[in-house]
Amino acid sequence: MKLIKVEGIVVGEQSYLETSKILKVFTKDLGIISILSKGCKKPKSDLKEGSNKLIRGLFNISYKNDGLSTLTSVDIIDNYKNIVMDYKDLAKKMYSFTIIDLSMQVLNQKLMEKEEISKVYDILVSAIKKIDEGFSCEIILDIVMLKYLDFLGVAPAIDSCASCGSKDNIVTMDSKSFGFVCKDCYTDEEIVSSEALKLIRMLYCVDIDRIKKLELKDEYKEVHKFIDSYYEDHTGVYFNIKSKIATLKKIEGIIWHPFYIYFFDNIDNYNTYTLQWLWRIVRCGLWTRKD
Ligand SMILES: [Zn+2]
Repeated sequence: MKLIKVEGIVVGEQSYLETSKILKVFTKDLGIISILSKGCKKPKSDLKEGSNKLIRGLFNISYKNDGLSTLTSVDIIDNYKNIVMDYKDLAKKMYSFTIIDLSMQVLNQKLMEKEEISKVYDILVSAIKKIDEGFSCEIILDIVMLKYLDFLGVAPAIDSCASCGSKDNIVTMDSKSFGFVCKDCYTDEEIVSSEALKLIRMLYCVDIDRIKKLELKDEYKEVHKFIDSYYEDHTGVYFNIKSKIATLKKIEGIIWHPFYIYFFDNIDNYNTYTLQWLWRIVRCGLWTRKD
């Protein structure tokens, strides 16, 4: 064991004995590590605030290379209080957790170089920051999804035709064709607007930290549809997340609110199958709204 300080964000937590937690922390330099936060559930513990999901900070730990590290203290960088505290708009939390979930799946897809892990980390924390600042959760998720395609090894061709490489006469983009399609290679793909072709490039290249304004225009729908189909066609990671979001959207506003919050805070413990069953129960009217 050695004492080190690492920057990271808590992406999962699990109770351990009466008063402690085991935190799953995504660190910029070491990837995912497990940290024991001893006694953090005691009301007066110094580790209490720093031992919650979504806390980003500098974690002072006794580091164990191949096992459970132990937390000494946390210097909190950001607690994303708008996401955590906004019980009226649970979408922020829902999308933040989805981005975390997606990031974990991306990390699990293959063995990554340290530099790549650090890039995934930067995308994740920048995205969550923007959601905390109130930017559209849906667009932020789409930007993250687009950027992660590189790490998943299936980057779309969106600066030239996916088949012939020509940069001229691009007429549409199509998921099954792996991106842009030029006039010569066009067969029967659905045509998207030229604004959508510009927008997808912009979202792909944008530095999330520098986003000052995000406006939803009609062409965004086309881009959203492309990203959705692209994940379905070329990656194995999105289905799970998407059905979770769809089910949660249905549940939100129907279930008795405090229950929903409890449920959502423990979302890691539920799989999609459980969520779908819960939705069926809700639909049958066993739970009713309490305003
Ligand atoms: Zn072509």
